[in-house]
Amino acid sequence: MRRLRRVKILATLGPASATRPMLARLFAAGADVFRINMSHASHDAMRERIRMIRSLEAEFGRPVGILADLQGPKLRVGTFAGDSVELAAGASFALDNDPTPGDINRVHLPHPEILRALEPGHHLLIDDGKVKLQVVSATPEQAVTRVVVAGRISNRKGVSLPDTEIATSAMTPKDRADLDAALNEGVDWIAVSFVQRPEDVAEVKKIARGRALVMAKIEKPQAITRLEEIMEIADAVMVARGDLGVEMPLEQVPGLQKRIVRQARRLGKPVVVATQMLESMISSPVPTRAEVSDVANAVFEGADAVMLSAESAAGQYPVDAVATMDKIALQVESDPNYRALVGSLRGEPEATGADAIAVAARDVAETLDVKAIVGWTASGSTALRIARERPRTAVLALTPSVDTARRLTLVWGTHAVVTHDAQDVADMSDRACELAFRDDFARDGERILIVAGVPFGTPGATNMVRISYVEAPKAG
Ligand code: PEP
Repeated sequence: MRRLRRVKILATLGPASATRPMLARLFAAGADVFRINMSHASHDAMRERIRMIRSLEAEFGRPVGILADLQGPKLRVGTFAGDSVELAAGASFALDNDPTPGDINRVHLPHPEILRALEPGHHLLIDDGKVKLQVVSATPEQAVTRVVVAGRISNRKGVSLPDTEIATSAMTPKDRADLDAALNEGVDWIAVSFVQRPEDVAEVKKIARGRALVMAKIEKPQAITRLEEIMEIADAVMVARGDLGVEMPLEQVPGLQKRIVRQARRLGKPVVVATQMLESMISSPVPTRAEVSDVANAVFEGADAVMLSAESAAGQYPVDAVATMDKIALQVESDPNYRALVGSLRGEPEATGADAIAVAARDVAETLDVKAIVGWTASGSTALRIARERPRTAVLALTPSVDTARRLTLVWGTHAVVTHDAQDVADMSDRACELAFRDDFARDGERILIVAGVPFGTPGATNMVRISYVEAPKAG
């Protein structure tokens, strides 16, 4: 089974996509990676979903990626005696360490580390920015604020802190438990929420110890300040536009998306564009023109993946949402401007054998119009460097590792196949031809380009390119 689309589709799972038949429909419609949002999934629900996804892989004979998205330190206010209060502009309102129900003058903020970190002038955004407060004075017991944007606050509404660096890790005790459970179930990717510093990513990588790769969600201004360092350490990034658009002025989000996608492409690390991509399809079978344009823009930028959130998790049209993304992506990728736009954002190669070969492979493949670049890859790194080139030619990654194949489901244009390591050069060529033929990349008599490293099975040894002719298997 071969997909013709190069950008990948990430679909979030939830009540609208909880059954195996629905997962099969989402996969058939084009979902390459499934996201389990740990804010909403119990460990039992996560295990059940993973079990269903793994059985889908067996049914379709294709690797399927699983991303477990950790909730992170989602901050919330306490409760109110009357369940909510209406705050007027200019009024004084305090957040404090008193757990008793709040009123029009105050509410509990059950996060002592936040009370310690707040300083006069800092802003607090309540309920995705619907209410905005500015700190006037702060002690470790109480922060007195002035209401800048008036509105209603009800029990346990979320709090965002665009100006305040929180001294605690991006991982809460719940995240640690969720991370352990997700690693034990063999998920392929872990997403870290509310990353502020490179250390937040390093901490998760240290616990994961290579059992899963780690994606940094970029959604805080503090992460933008240290973007280069965070992206250097993360295995992938997500432009998490939901929270990013709460913590930063909304009009800055498109520019930040461009900056993050470019930087990720330069580094050769997968980048996902997320949130509200087809938001109206939660309750409508057709998207808005603006949404179609938004998905198309991410595809033109050469992002590795576009993501659905509530559209596939809780919406009325999960399969249509995936099919719509698929259709938009295929159209964009065949647009006359696509190659020029995607190519213009290509980064310079690094001075390594792997990059020199990846550039040469793209060049040779496009010059000769071969049908596929087939990369033998143990860790997936050769495939990532080839995908970084965003070649016109299809990319096939052959790997002995099922983990690598699953991780590569997130990577632009990469079709991964699990097969045992090549024994010698003849085997390397024969099997590449056989699999390119089997998976519909090349027909009898057509050429493919093979990238490999000798000795076989040694990570980082990419050192050869070979052109081979595909032959149809002999009958009988
Ligand atoms: C986001 O904020 O855009 C995002 C993807 O994170 P979450 O859905 O976990 O809030």
